[in-house]
Amino acid sequence: RTVYVNGEYLPENEAKVSVFDRAFLMADGVYEVTSVLGGKLIDFDGHLARLERSLNELDMQKPEAFDDLLEIHRELVRVNEITDGLVYLQVTRGGAADRDFAFPDPDEVKPTLVLFTQAKPGLADSPAAKKGMKVISIEDIRWGRRDIKTTQLLYPSMGKMMAKKAGCDDAWMIEDGKVTEGTSNNAYIVKGNKIITRELSTDILHGITRAAVLRFAREAQMEVEERSFTIDEAKEADEAFITSASTFVMPVVEIDGATLGEGVPGKVATRLREIYLDESLKAAI
Ligand code: PLP
Repeated sequence: RTVYVNGEYLPENEAKVSVFDRAFLMADGVYEVTSVLGGKLIDFDGHLARLERSLNELDMQKPEAFDDLLEIHRELVRVNEITDGLVYLQVTRGGAADRDFAFPDPDEVKPTLVLFTQAKPGLADSPAAKKGMKVISIEDIRWGRRDIKTTQLLYPSMGKMMAKKAGCDDAWMIEDGKVTEGTSNNAYIVKGNKIITRELSTDILHGITRAAVLRFAREAQMEVEERSFTIDEAKEADEAFITSASTFVMPVVEIDGATLGEGVPGKVATRLREIYLDESLKAAI
């Protein structure tokens, strides 16, 4: 596999990043994951806009190749022959000469830019979408700027492991009794025909898939309410689902052992998945 590091396309085993890189020492990095379907990028502009916002919020410099990012994504998809899969992009504050909590002087340190691909054949027709996911709930003990897509992913990884140990697929995180989001996705419930998902704030990541799905839902005259909900309300909902760039819309059929509806993917989630895949494939670049 060919990866991109700071201006160079290299075989993955020749790519190198400094041990002083602040993403390695301090998780001082931000990232994006863009899906590839049929060789095309899904919602690239949305991911690029969020990357720019994450960089701004952390006073991190744009990498020199920022304006070439579309080209770099396309080149990696081409050389690695990705039909279905994803492109992972990471920008870090770079590596100063010494480890220091203070940010290094931007004149002395350049940001690190890394991109690689992961092939995921059949990404859009995953069997999980037909079966539905099981989730557990865990306390949300992450930091207070979850709207910035940083590489500090240890707690979400632990949450994923807690879910696996419980025989489930993912964990929904709870703060003050209300669901924030999944370990790597936004969370939704459906009551009647109404789609309910937490409003945007610094408490959750502003999902690119979330924005697209809510837009498509509204265009299809589906009712949307952006508000937080408790885990008890979720357990009694008619349906639930998650969204993310790599899972699109994925139905949830069980929460903390409570079965939702008939225990199979719901009508609303199934329809939204179809609409999302149709529309975003049409707009893919
Ligand atoms: N919430 C969290 C915590 C995430 O890590 C992610 C994606 O990785 C999402 C939500 C979904 O965001 P997107 O739809 O942009 O992939």
